[in-house]
Amino acid sequence: MTPLLAGAVFTARQACSDGQVKKKRGADMIVAANWKMNPALDQAAVLATALASQPFFEIKRILFVPHPYLVPMSVRLTGAPLQIGGQDCHFADHGAYTGDVSAGMLRDCGASTVLLGHSERRSAHGESSDLVAQKIKAALAQNLDVVLCVGETKAERDDKKAEQVVIDQLQASIPDNTPPTRLTIAYEPVWAIGTGAVASPDDIGAMHHIIASVLSERFGAGALPPILYGGSVNAENAGSIFAVPLVGGALVGGASLDADAFAAICTAAQLASRNEG
Ligand code: PEP
Repeated sequence: MTPLLAGAVFTARQACSDGQVKKKRGADMIVAANWKMNPALDQAAVLATALASQPFFEIKRILFVPHPYLVPMSVRLTGAPLQIGGQDCHFADHGAYTGDVSAGMLRDCGASTVLLGHSERRSAHGESSDLVAQKIKAALAQNLDVVLCVGETKAERDDKKAEQVVIDQLQASIPDNTPPTRLTIAYEPVWAIGTGAVASPDDIGAMHHIIASVLSERFGAGALPPILYGGSVNAENAGSIFAVPLVGGALVGGASLDADAFAAICTAAQLASRNEG
C-alpha cells in the first residue's frame, strides 16, 4: 500500500489558492450520463432527442450508452453538442474475447470517450486497477478520452481506509505517460451509487483534495484533469455538490434516464461554471 502523504493535501490546497484549479473547473464543467444497461432502444431514442434539444453550450455533456446503442445514438445525435462514450473496453485490439469490445470498435461506432473502472465493473467483473490501467492504455492508443472511476466501499470508509483506497486506485489505474488532457476522474463512493445516499459536501471536498493532490504530483498543479463526483446526484442536490471546491461536474446514473432531471443537473453545472469562470 502506498502511504498517505499529508504533504500531498497541501499541494492540492496550493493548486486551489493560486486560482489555476478554479479557472480550469469553470472552463470544463462536465455532466456525464451513465445509462448502464438501460433503457429500451425506443426509449433511448426519445431520451437522446430530448437531450439534443437542450441548450447547454457552456458545459460538456457525455452520454455513456450501452454498446449496441453507440451507432444509433451517434447517428441521432449528429451535430448535437453531446459526446458519446462506451461503458467499458477490452485491453486488446482484437482476438478471441467473446462478448468483449475493443477501444477501436467503440471509436469506429462513434464513441469519443470511454468509462473505465466503474465500481460495477470492479465488483461484478472482478476488474483490478492493473486491468483498468491496461484498458486505459488501449483507449488512449485509439484516441479515446477516458473517464476513470475510483471510490471506496462502505466497509472501507467505516474502517477509515477510504482515502488510501482511492489513492491506491488512482496510482495503479493511471498508466505512465497518460496525457492529463485526455483523462477525467470520477470519484464515486460505492455506497452512494444508486442508493440515494449522497456523500456530504465536506467528505466530497476532502476526497477531491486528496485526488487533486495525487493528480498534481503526477501531472503538475497546472494540468489537473477534471474531477467529477458521482453517487445519487439528482436535480435537488446537484447545486450543492457543484458548489464544493474542485468538483468539476458529475457522473450521473439513475437521474440521467430522465431528460428533465438531467437538464436540471446540467443547469446547475452551467450556473456553477458561470460563477467560477
Ligand atoms: C453511476 O452509476 O455511476 C452512478 C453514479 O449512479 P447513480 O447516479 O444512480 O448513483
